[in-house]
Amino acid sequence: MVDYKKMFELLVQDKNGINVHSVNVIDSSILHLDDKAKLSSVGLGKYETLTFYVDGQTYCNGTLNQNVNLEGCLVNIQTEKGIEQVIFIPSEAPHESSISPEYQEDWSYMLKLIALAHELGHASDIQRADGNFKLENKRTVNLVGAEAYANAYALEYLNKVNAPIARNTLARAIYRASSSTKAFEKELYLCVCKQIGKGRLKRWAAA
Ligand SMILES: [Zn+2]
Repeated sequence: MVDYKKMFELLVQDKNGINVHSVNVIDSSILHLDDKAKLSSVGLGKYETLTFYVDGQTYCNGTLNQNVNLEGCLVNIQTEKGIEQVIFIPSEAPHESSISPEYQEDWSYMLKLIALAHELGHASDIQRADGNFKLENKRTVNLVGAEAYANAYALEYLNKVNAPIARNTLARAIYRASSSTKAFEKELYLCVCKQIGKGRLKRWAAA
């Protein structure tokens, strides 16, 4: 059986090779506070936060992680080294009534693993050339593109490290978006298909 606690702790450490400022596991009540408060809670309150504009909506306002039942968050800060990414992951996942009590902790770590892989996907996107985040002048983000990239990144990661239940859980959530009435979700699904292949996504979602 896959040890999700161990896998999560390993990813907190090695970050799949992505260079970020820090990964912070925090109480979920803090996740709902604004970026400045989140930073203050981990002693980073002195840093200026960067905002990305999306059709008037700012990045990390809750519309981003609608695919799995656990939200992480990424805040960009300006440090001496330049623009760096601070990742926040909630310490506890919401109780899942369909999972028996003995597996709640496993389930929680699995969701945290998915959330962290997703946020590292955003960091990777921000750091690559011609990604969905534009850092010059007025900073902007292509929201659908960014969400698709982060989800595709997470799927590839979970596949690589052999975490099939986590991978399939995420694949199912994304596959559900294909029948959504919301344009955002439909486009997100198509975008993920383009990146990882429709056949693979379908196979994982059905497993
Ligand atoms: Zn996201």
